[in-house]
Amino acid sequence: MEKAEQRLEAVRTAITRAAKVAGRDPSKITLIAVSKMHEPDRIRPLLEVGHRDFGENRVQEAQRKWPALKEEFPDVRLHMVGRLQSNKAADAAGLFDCIHSVDRSSLVKELGKAAADHPTRTFLQVDIGEEEQKGGCPIGEIGALHSRMEEAGIAPTGLMCIPPAGTEAAPYFALLAKLAGEQGLADLSMGMSADYESAVMLGATHVRVGTALFGDRPSP
Ligand SMILES: *Cc1c(COP(=O)(O)O)cnc(C)c1O
Repeated sequence: MEKAEQRLEAVRTAITRAAKVAGRDPSKITLIAVSKMHEPDRIRPLLEVGHRDFGENRVQEAQRKWPALKEEFPDVRLHMVGRLQSNKAADAAGLFDCIHSVDRSSLVKELGKAAADHPTRTFLQVDIGEEEQKGGCPIGEIGALHSRMEEAGIAPTGLMCIPPAGTEAAPYFALLAKLAGEQGLADLSMGMSADYESAVMLGATHVRVGTALFGDRPSP
């Protein structure tokens, strides 16, 4: 098996290549290493070679794994990429530097309260494939939720999506880019291991890559 740092290098190289094809500056693209279900011993090698952006999808798991790692590597930036329950909003705001999954007004309310103590960068997650189980705001309600987020003091810097599995992701990425443009938002959190290169070509500013960096996740 390749070492974590070789995989990191390979993913970075692919991002650079995709960015150049699209005439984009690769340094403007944040690679988030999604370390969900991987233990600190798998995460540490990436930290040791200087990687700093990591993603998790569960608050409790992140609370268990990251405080000790953050003590060792205080400049780490943690991204919440999973569905967030409103009653975990305060905990999430305390731990994460960026929350990618803001998708409904009940959550906006709780995050807004928490953000007074912990300013958190946010993305508005869009239900791009109209699959309710994945979370995300319906496309027709983006404008209203965007306003709610601004009023609550957690204005999003961009939109986030998870396209339907098993289909060509590019049309969904293009749609998310168009929707972000309509909202005047600059950032796009899109692209995972299978499709991050196409996401970069279509404007992703944040790609969320797990398997291509860490290998398969252990089964729960
Ligand atoms: C797990 C996860 C990823 C990473 O998925 P891979 O296919 O392993 O790269 C990205 N985004 C979200 C929201 C995830 O839950």
